[in-house]
Amino acid sequence: MLDILVRQANLPDGRGPLDIAIQGDKIVSIAAHIEAEAREEIDASGRLVCPPFVDPHFHMDATLSLGSPRLNQSGTLLEGIALWGELKPLLTPQAVMERALRYCDLAVSQGLLAIRSHVDICDDRLTAVEALIEVRKQVAPYIDLQLVAFPQDGLYRSPNAEDNLLRALDMGVDVVGGIPHFERTMADGARSVTRLCEIAADRDLMLDLHCDESDDPLSRHVETLAAEATRLGIGSRVVASHVTAMHSYDNYYATKLIPLIAESGMHIVPNPLINITLQGRSDTYPRRRGLTRVPELRAAGVNVAFGQDCTMDPWYSLGSADMLEVAHMAVHAVPMTSREAMEWTFTSVTQNGAAAMGLPDPTLRPGGPANLVVLQARDPIEAVRLKATRLAVIKRGKILSRTAPRLATLTLPGRPQMLDPAAYAPVASDPLT
Ligand SMILES: [Zn+2]
Repeated sequence: MLDILVRQANLPDGRGPLDIAIQGDKIVSIAAHIEAEAREEIDASGRLVCPPFVDPHFHMDATLSLGSPRLNQSGTLLEGIALWGELKPLLTPQAVMERALRYCDLAVSQGLLAIRSHVDICDDRLTAVEALIEVRKQVAPYIDLQLVAFPQDGLYRSPNAEDNLLRALDMGVDVVGGIPHFERTMADGARSVTRLCEIAADRDLMLDLHCDESDDPLSRHVETLAAEATRLGIGSRVVASHVTAMHSYDNYYATKLIPLIAESGMHIVPNPLINITLQGRSDTYPRRRGLTRVPELRAAGVNVAFGQDCTMDPWYSLGSADMLEVAHMAVHAVPMTSREAMEWTFTSVTQNGAAAMGLPDPTLRPGGPANLVVLQARDPIEAVRLKATRLAVIKRGKILSRTAPRLATLTLPGRPQMLDPAAYAPVASDPLT
């Protein structure tokens, strides 16, 4: 007797419909038809079954704090940082934990089961660090939560940031963070990159920098990061997040830079929801997009994984823990509209995010962990298009969440019907394929 049998699943690589057998916390078989009984049977009916979503860039200490103590009037990154500075002294461990746990509940309902969260260490009390370490422990059975020691106000610009960062790492924070473009000078920014790379190398830790989140074409810390990662041989565990300034770099410089990034082996994590709104704020028209050079990075073989960054906080007032919404925005904001590129955005918020976080490849396979999501869509592009409902979310063989399919009851004259938004796309005969 199996524990769970998922019938008629389409897989993200196009195979299907296939049955998926789960015993304990493992997938034991994936085959055309599995002749067996199970305690729980889920009929996917030709819908997409995929690995859980991954968000490699988030701020769980700030999430769901929208409006506290006030709203961001200008919509800029800098007012967001100032506003967070007003909220920081008012934080309590209980309030941070409560907001974070509420966010984790939402994440589970959206099939988002691995999150890397930055946590600001510039508060000398390390209130948020203490709270999120406790949250990491509480959610460990169902969410892989990594914490990044993030000096929001600058490693050198904020008086105790370096000591606080080392203390946070001693307390068990997983990843070294930084924000070179926010230091006082370009030279300080470059120095912070070197120092943070050395801390990561010495302690055998991963490194994830907010890097060149700016419209300044001369903000070039990603170059130093690539060089230092190569020098120290740590590239595979280094992430450069945002890298929006690359949008504004001179084209010739970009052709020199991108091969250096590829050579280092580091990962790039753009955050399309937030950066399409934050960037270009000092432009009149034409107004720049806030996205880095995704197609060129991909073409050079760099692992690119999209992050969400924010949900209802001083920087971004929307968001819903939905990585399909992130992929959907990436399609538009980059833009990348070929079928191959749209399919790739789905991979970017699953497999590529896991690689950026240093997690095992989550591809569904016999012998692998029974971590999967059943979507109300038939294939990855339809999932992105519809921001598809997560019908079932399973982690280590346990069903964590179920959502009823979205079906409209239409009472149109002569056309009464139950309308499934996923029942229309002419996938097989699509002239674009
Ligand atoms: Zn961020």
